[in-house]
Amino acid sequence: MHEYSLVIAIIDQVKEIVKQHKAKSVKKITVSAGPYEMVIPELLYEAYDIIIDELDKFKESKLELIMKPAEITCLNCDYKGEPSKEKEEEFAFNFKCPKCDSRDTHLNMQYLTIETVDLELSE
Ligand SMILES: [Zn+2]
Repeated sequence: MHEYSLVIAIIDQVKEIVKQHKAKSVKKITVSAGPYEMVIPELLYEAYDIIIDELDKFKESKLELIMKPAEITCLNCDYKGEPSKEKEEEFAFNFKCPKCDSRDTHLNMQYLTIETVDLELSE
């Protein structure tokens, strides 16, 4: 399952942060991803719960996934941001620039990234 490797990668990064801060435990991890990253929140949370069950410092923690809006770069006018909301079935994955109406756009990948980590610090 794809979500397992994502969770393992997140936890590996957070372990480093825990080490740096000599933290007692992790309270919450917030991650974000773009809408075309094929991350299924339910599966991500499920994988997280299974994996942290064996990790003392993560046992009580929560994972939260924030979905970011799609972002394009227009190859015609250099616009960067959300695509035009206009829906046309035949162009489902061919986004339109809201500034110049060009379809010569590139969908920017927004991989799963850690936004914030809440730690329980030791006194
Ligand atoms: Zn444009």
